[in-house]
Amino acid sequence: MTSVPSNDAPALTLWPAGSVEPDQVLWSAYATEVLDHAGFSYATSTDPSALPAKGVLLLTGTADTEQAGALTSWVEAGGTLVLAAPGENLTDLAGVSPGRALGSELVECTEHWAQRPPRGIRALAGQALTPRDGTEVLATLADGSAAITRRQVGSGLVLTFGVDLWYTIARIQQGYPVTADGVPASDGTAPIDDDLLKAEDGMALDLEVDRAMPPGYPELPDDYTHTYPPPAAVPIFDQPHADWWRALLLQAIWQSAAHSATPLGWLDYWPAGLDAIAHMSHDADGNKPEDGQAALDAFAAADVKVTWHQVFPGGYGPETFAAITAAGHEHSLHYNSMADADLASWGWPQFRAQYAWAQAVSGREDIVSNKNHYTRWEGWTEFYTWCERTGVQIDSTRGPSKQGTVGFPFGTAHLSFPLAPAGNEQIFHDVLNLPLHTQDLAWAGHIAARDVILDAAQAQHGVAHFLFHGPHLNKRPLTRQACVDVANVARERGMPWWTAEEINTWERSRRGVQVQVRTLAEGWEVQVHAEQALSGAALALALPASATPVDDQVRVRTVQRHGHEFLELGVDLPAGTSSWLLRP
Ligand SMILES: [Zn+2]
Repeated sequence: MTSVPSNDAPALTLWPAGSVEPDQVLWSAYATEVLDHAGFSYATSTDPSALPAKGVLLLTGTADTEQAGALTSWVEAGGTLVLAAPGENLTDLAGVSPGRALGSELVECTEHWAQRPPRGIRALAGQALTPRDGTEVLATLADGSAAITRRQVGSGLVLTFGVDLWYTIARIQQGYPVTADGVPASDGTAPIDDDLLKAEDGMALDLEVDRAMPPGYPELPDDYTHTYPPPAAVPIFDQPHADWWRALLLQAIWQSAAHSATPLGWLDYWPAGLDAIAHMSHDADGNKPEDGQAALDAFAAADVKVTWHQVFPGGYGPETFAAITAAGHEHSLHYNSMADADLASWGWPQFRAQYAWAQAVSGREDIVSNKNHYTRWEGWTEFYTWCERTGVQIDSTRGPSKQGTVGFPFGTAHLSFPLAPAGNEQIFHDVLNLPLHTQDLAWAGHIAARDVILDAAQAQHGVAHFLFHGPHLNKRPLTRQACVDVANVARERGMPWWTAEEINTWERSRRGVQVQVRTLAEGWEVQVHAEQALSGAALALALPASATPVDDQVRVRTVQRHGHEFLELGVDLPAGTSSWLLRP
């Protein structure tokens, strides 16, 4: 391992959109969030002459006629272009004719993908495409028009997303502003019209279309009522729609890199050796010491360190708080705005006061995580500004409060920084969104949801989040058993349990890592720059499987990511620049 400076351009370039009116959300900026979470390093440019001769350009803005001409020459000579979205001067290069504007509708992927959704996934905006002669269709809309296309141009390749990826992904994950109750599911499984404003009320996914029964379970009985425990398995959000769009974009980039024989490397989502992880949290609702003890016992039996959301008012008492600390659990805030106590209402003064309360009773000064009681929510992202002001760095409120919204109601098993509204000083809020997938198994969520959540989170290389409550761990033997069982099942799948704090630290550390691969006469050089040290990092490389690191301390394995195969190097990154050589 030596320190080698390099001026080589990254294989991937992002062509960003220009600015928007001050009263508009900068949706196209979400491209940077998707690339950053995926661990890609990239240059940013709108100058065709600055592009490397080969490589991948992700274009999210517009090109004038002169730029379009230069891009056409670049592609003909072997460059590869991923268009998201297709500007008017690039339609000839893409080989498509743009048509009607898309609303909320389903997209079916053709067999051209290494990993594709089992059925239609939801798009929320964009343009329908009509392919011209020689343009392949990679995804279709219900009316037969194309949603994604591919066209070979000279030695190069153009992949075109008619779907507005950035609006679709961000809107599915963040929903619409919550100002009123949402519309409940017609089958009675998701009565979200409960006179309480919560995250689900702003859901962008469709309760009637985007859910499915867990595999192997009978159709919902006609006499189903939403009671506890669930009288039957119910349809759930089984597919993380936003993650599927992320996965399709990554596959488009990898297809492009392969076409131009460009070596590509990036930092994988989790430490080397891991494909996905699990997270368990606990809401301290009721604050009864006997419930706290039951939870401590259950988590000890499960052998899981949990993120323990402490809820105002009251608190367990000093012995229980000390026992939670001693067991290695993470003290977190469970912000209460249910109007059941003097400070328990929605607003910055109350949030601030409850944060201070949680610091005082738990003995932990630097609380970094939160989940809102009952998944309460109002507005769009104002809540995140309160988190920023107190030091809450990761929030897991966005999830289900009803049996029929269990699974992926916000379409994701991945961490993300939320897009800020128009006029905000920063484009993103400095608070990680950690999705929640079900509350108490065998009580608030049917046990059938467990493996559906684990399967999808693992397939997308994300985190599966299971929440429990002390009173149910105390009084419901099936829920307590489900807690221990899910802990074991996830570990057997190779998914370790991390606290929100551990997840937050990992994700923020990996965002400071840049990975680049250079082709040398004798093989390849992988150069990595890390802002801070990161142990056990996984460098994912699109190189021949025979590539072998010269340093025999490096742990090597082959991994599948979104259907594609890569070489993974397990390395400890020091702060600063390091490099590794590989021989063919
Ligand atoms: Zn609660």
